[in-house]
Order: sequence, then structure tokens, then C-alpha cells
Amino acid sequence: MTRRNLFSLLAAAGLASKADAAPQAAPLRADIVPVRLSAAQWRERLSPMAYAVLREEGTERPGSSPLNAEKRKGTFVCAGCELPLFKSEHKYESGTGWPSFHTPIDGALGFKTDFKLVLPRTEYHCARCEGHQGHVFNDGPPPTGKRYCNNGVALKFVPEVA
Ligand SMILES: [Zn+2]
Repeated sequence: MTRRNLFSLLAAAGLASKADAAPQAAPLRADIVPVRLSAAQWRERLSPMAYAVLREEGTERPGSSPLNAEKRKGTFVCAGCELPLFKSEHKYESGTGWPSFHTPIDGALGFKTDFKLVLPRTEYHCARCEGHQGHVFNDGPPPTGKRYCNNGVALKFVPEVA
């Protein structure tokens, strides 16, 4: 066996073992490294309201977030871990009193169904720290027809630097 053949054999073996080891629930995006903190660490990092929303799936009072009126160009990032979740061009005025978006950044959100209001709703959260952000509904505008109804306190706005 030549050195070259041996190398390709090893490479193939390496690839095979990697594929075998792939976990069932692969992360949505390879570049997202999960952020896992204890409840005490989150409390240290977040305001009480942000903690209630992000870590306990609370809902802020409608109309209470200054981000409702945010119209500058930029990015809305997770208030827990600063993962970019939404872009300003995908924000729209839904009239609900919560910042609303029709499109999220690819792979930035995870989803689950909750039954807190009896009827099932689709909850979504940050894919990196699993912080609760809001719920998604099917009454949004084009192009997706979706309304991502987000708690403003769960987001931070980062204006685009001109
Ligand atoms: Zn996050």
C-alpha cells in the first residue's frame, strides 16, 4: 500500500466515524455555539423584566417597549446573548404594541408549541441561549404571511454604522 492510499483510507474512516457520531438533534446552524448559564448567572446579567421574559416565558405589557418605535436601520439581537435575530428591514407596524417582524434571520430561532392559552401557539426562542422571544402567528404581511410577535425587552437594537 502506498502512503497516498493509506492517507485516503484514513480520511474515509475519519469521515465515516464523524457521520456515525452525528447527534439526532443537530444544531440549526453550525456557527451557533450554545450559551448555557445557571438561573443565578442569568439573573445577574438581565434586568428583572428581561429575566421574566427570556428565562420564564413571561410577556411584557403591550406598548411598553421603546423598540416599538425603533425605525432606524440595524439589527435586533437577543438581549440574553446578542445573537442577531431580526433585521430592521423585516420589521413592520402590526398595531399590537409589540415589535413585529415578518422574517427572522436564517437559523437564529428555535420553535416549540405551547398550550398556555389553551389553543396551541408556536413559541420561538433564541437558538443560542434558548431565551424566550415571542410567538409566531399566521396573520403577517408578505412575503411570509408570518407575524413574529416579539417582546421588546428580549431584544437589543444595534444601529447600523454608516
Ligand atoms: Zn440568545
